[in-house]
Amino acid sequence: MPSPSDRNPLCDIRLPVPFDEIRAEHVEPAIDEHLREATARQRELANGSSPPTFRNTLLVLDTFTERLDYAMAVVRHLESVATTEALRSAYNSVQPKVNAFYASIPLDEKLWGRLKEFARTPEAGALSGVHRRFFTKTLDNFRRHGAELDAQRKARLAEIEVELGKCTTRFAENVLDATNSFELVLQDESMLAGLPPSAVAAARQSAEAKGISGWRFTLQAPSYTALMTYLDNRAIREQVWRAYNTRASEGAFNNRPLLTRILELRREKATLLGYPSFAAYVLEDRMARTVERVQQFLEQLKARTEKHFVRENEELQNFRRSLEGADADELQPWDIAYYVEKQRAALYEFDEEDLRPYFPLERVVEGMFEIARRLYGIFITELDGVPCWDPQVKYYKITDQDGSLLGYFYADWYPRENKRSGAWMDFLITGGPLVEGFKPHLGLVCGNLTPPVGAKPALLTHREVETIFHEFGHLLHHCLSRVEIRSLAGTNVAWDFVELPSQIMENWCWEKEALDLFARHYETGETIPEDLYQKMRRARTYRSANSQMRQLGFAFVDMALHTDYSPVEDPDPIAYSLRILQEFSPAKLPEDYAMLASFTHLFSDPDGYAAGYYSYKWAEVLDADAFSRFQAEGTFNKEVGRQFREAILSRGEAEEPAVLFRSFMGRDPDPEALLRRLGLSVSA
Ligand code: ZN
Repeated sequence: MPSPSDRNPLCDIRLPVPFDEIRAEHVEPAIDEHLREATARQRELANGSSPPTFRNTLLVLDTFTERLDYAMAVVRHLESVATTEALRSAYNSVQPKVNAFYASIPLDEKLWGRLKEFARTPEAGALSGVHRRFFTKTLDNFRRHGAELDAQRKARLAEIEVELGKCTTRFAENVLDATNSFELVLQDESMLAGLPPSAVAAARQSAEAKGISGWRFTLQAPSYTALMTYLDNRAIREQVWRAYNTRASEGAFNNRPLLTRILELRREKATLLGYPSFAAYVLEDRMARTVERVQQFLEQLKARTEKHFVRENEELQNFRRSLEGADADELQPWDIAYYVEKQRAALYEFDEEDLRPYFPLERVVEGMFEIARRLYGIFITELDGVPCWDPQVKYYKITDQDGSLLGYFYADWYPRENKRSGAWMDFLITGGPLVEGFKPHLGLVCGNLTPPVGAKPALLTHREVETIFHEFGHLLHHCLSRVEIRSLAGTNVAWDFVELPSQIMENWCWEKEALDLFARHYETGETIPEDLYQKMRRARTYRSANSQMRQLGFAFVDMALHTDYSPVEDPDPIAYSLRILQEFSPAKLPEDYAMLASFTHLFSDPDGYAAGYYSYKWAEVLDADAFSRFQAEGTFNKEVGRQFREAILSRGEAEEPAVLFRSFMGRDPDPEALLRRLGLSVSA
């Protein structure tokens, strides 16, 4: 036996993870070893000679890839937070074979045979609780991946998946290339009127980087948003808006043929698997369950929002008239953001920057831990001397109120060059009271928040505070899990349910009682003054009907494309979607509007948000509704906290999400709380 220090640090599940030992050259040998082991165990499982039981078949299925899962999670994580060229190439070289291995499991005919054999046993018939759910979900999962198809259809399904993979990758590349192919270089400084100095400086820098004179603008978010929001020159706004909203709809990076093909392939896949539509296939596995339920949900929100939407847009038009006279033109799509910014400034005198001094990162994090202690009775303590991937990373231990260990997590909040952008939560080990005994959970939260400057602490925006709370909510969902089956534990839940535990946490960033716990001026220690707090609350609901209608429009298009749309009857999905989206737009959309051609949420991944765009609104309804109990019974009500932990946070997908929700609320979700939060509950 080699001594522990010679052994590849990715070969065993170790806690704490030996981040100080892991090198790129460990990746391939470790993953290959795990793949060999998992493949051998899969073969053993499929060829089992003794009669199948829950323990020798189902439970093995839940655990036999554990070491592979762990090693891949660690490598994927390192590639996200501390990447090097060597690590990226090692990761890229193992990823395809790992994906292929996972994909092969539900297509293993002998294994499927064992599951069907088990289904006929009295033991299977007598399963209950989470064991029954796991068994049912496993059968569904195999079926949904084609286990029941004959050889010819299985082959066709595999072809569809390959082609879908290629088309969606190409779709995303076209969007990227089309976005990058546009530039607007202005030479006349007077044309920049209206832009803030930061946007002018960025445009100058962009031009210099290209070795050209003047000011260079692109369709990248910061540049595009600044132009639309601030540039006084209307003709330029129109030109850039049109370029942005027709991206990838013509020329060298035309996504039109791909759009049609992706929709055809998805439809064919659903038909092959016995579903009336791709949306029906996707939704079967979600909390919403059916197309009808989603459509009804969207219609209901739309009906409640429309009047407010009309009112907001009239107010904006009137505001423009107040500036430019009674005969000012009708607002065009490229005018909206511009006048919205002017109206917002006139109405609120509120600057997000005013809040920063109240949100020093350390206090925010401490306050968040204190809120978790009050609500869920858990204690979080920092541990020193644990190997991490960067000196800025912190490591914490979570214990329950009785002192028992729940798990550990890492927090990595600041940007670095070798770290990907955005904020996220992930997990490395799923623990809890598992069938084989207790194991601690191991999770992590990452962000790219404003770092400290000089001697000042890191001062966050309110949006960044919400982000920390959001990711911490996902982390609690993982670390408080008490589900004994790993694949149903923690955040392994339906897509339209997974944002409930995260989004609900954001609500505590808006309650004065909670803010006063942690939002303290970094110099004076004072809480947020009442008038600043009121401004922040008012700004929250500004034009909320417009944001809601925009999201609803995309959700309607998504559902329509994945249910009713037929490429045979209607060869142009872009024109088809324009007819739907017009109703949700504050201004008349031009004929060549082609947002669909760059709608990466729906088309840059074989599944992605396809037939799932409604989930954004769905999860908002859930979180606002669930939080209404805290609003009614106390922001820090321990008993409500205990119930939320019991019913939701500890249960993963041990039950249907709808059942879990009902067990907390005593009824089905009600959109009223969301409408109230958005200021849309009173009729206009
Ligand atoms: Zn989230």
